[in-house]
Amino acid sequence: MTNEPENIALAASVIRNGGVVAFGTETVYGLGADAYNDAAVKKIFRIKGRPSDNPLIVHVCDGAQISGLAAAVPKNARILIDKFMPGPITLVLNKRGRVSDAVTAGLPTVAVRMPSDKTALAFISACGVPVAAPSANISGRPSPTTAKHVYDDLNGKIGYILDCGECAVGVESTVVDARADVPVILRSGGVPIEQIERAVGKAALYTPAQNQNVPPSPGMKYRHYAPKAAVLFSAFHSDMRKTISAYYDRLAAVGVKPVILCFDSAKRLYGGRETISVGGDNADYARRLFAALREADERNFGAVIAEGVSDKGLGAAVINRLIKAAGGRII
Ligand code: AMP
Ligand code: MG
Repeated sequence: MTNEPENIALAASVIRNGGVVAFGTETVYGLGADAYNDAAVKKIFRIKGRPSDNPLIVHVCDGAQISGLAAAVPKNARILIDKFMPGPITLVLNKRGRVSDAVTAGLPTVAVRMPSDKTALAFISACGVPVAAPSANISGRPSPTTAKHVYDDLNGKIGYILDCGECAVGVESTVVDARADVPVILRSGGVPIEQIERAVGKAALYTPAQNQNVPPSPGMKYRHYAPKAAVLFSAFHSDMRKTISAYYDRLAAVGVKPVILCFDSAKRLYGGRETISVGGDNADYARRLFAALREADERNFGAVIAEGVSDKGLGAAVINRLIKAAGGRII
């Protein structure tokens, strides 16, 4: 449904009555439920087929809701809240007792995010409760960045999609464990890591070997973001386009229909080979990535070969999602 005030009010009443609603944010579309209602939250896991050990992000509309969820807001968290909220960042904080184990997968922490999308904020505010929401796709599929993507995955399983248009950022939020003196980036995302480092002085990237004392982001262990087509991801180097062309030709020769995800400017370098454009810079790539993966399936391509990018700005999030989508097939 469109994002008129009556529809926002209707969507909020569905949440207050223990139902689920898909809604757009600036990152991706989420499938939301009342974060304080266990039965409602469990519906999300059933509908998505999401493993129950993968906790949900709780979406809030103001600081008061953060205080209701988090036992404390340490110094670095305060800095990141002031600088980046509302926006595409999620902070992991120690939780208050009232937050249910269904949301946090039994962890002592809760992941909190305040979206900047106006409709999303109005919706959460109308709900009057924090809204737990993972991406509104079937688990493992590319995240949805339009209402149609949600419909394609969840038609028949949910009653309401609040249409907020195309997501402006297009990749999920940056997840930061903000409790320690040096915050730990658990997942790259919509706020570039460089900006977080600038705000707090220093941030660490989560790697299991180095951070044995930090609880990981459980979701990162699953294969994710994958279309039906096989995905190959190219490392970013000067011969990248030659390598990609060679793989393309080999796949085409054995009857697999390949397509290349590339910047507009590179299209002509691939001659007559099939391409899907991801725009002109890293932010465009982020915004269009998931839609491009879905388009490849719709157009019946058998393999997607994705160009690598620099890890500057949103490039780090693009690389992270493509490595996951490729299931490790890096060329
Ligand atoms: P999704 O909602 O699909 O974008 O996934 C949410 C991400 O946030 C996953 O990678 C989760 O593992 C992570 N996450 C949610 N809650 C927590 C938490 N309490 N501690 C660490 N990571 C979390
Ligand atoms: Mg997801």
